[in-house]
Amino acid sequence: MGSSRLMRNVANVANLSTPLGLLVALATRSRLRRVDGLLVAEGARLRLPATALTIGSVVLVPKRTLAEALERIPGLLEHEDQHAWQYAYCLGLPFVPAYFVAAGWSWLRSGDRATANHFEVQAGLELGGYRVGRLRTVRKGLVDLRARLPWSRGA
Ligand SMILES: [Zn+2]
Repeated sequence: MGSSRLMRNVANVANLSTPLGLLVALATRSRLRRVDGLLVAEGARLRLPATALTIGSVVLVPKRTLAEALERIPGLLEHEDQHAWQYAYCLGLPFVPAYFVAAGWSWLRSGDRATANHFEVQAGLELGGYRVGRLRTVRKGLVDLRARLPWSRGA
């Protein structure tokens, strides 16, 4: 592990994101091991619409081993490693609301949570197993959003 990665991991302990990740790993009865400067929590008993979820420097892999996840998405660990950096530069847990705002923006711009999401783009869409969607105007996104609101059904 390089010294910059060590610094990142120390920062993610201090900013409490890695301790939170460890709590989630514990609560979901994962098996923990160190891989390339990350803590990988395999077999997490967690329902997720994704192959992995990074919290601090902890990569949670629901219901699978890392090897099985890497078989599906070979660039996954490299992608999640970038998310660990993002926690460090967001000073920890502010990453979570920032991520949701970015995912909402991406949905407006593309109809999915990744294509125009700053954090996913920076971590590498293809590495993370995302298909790269097509961008649309914010106006089109707002029209789509309006059509999906429950009170606009049948209108
Ligand atoms: Zn990602």
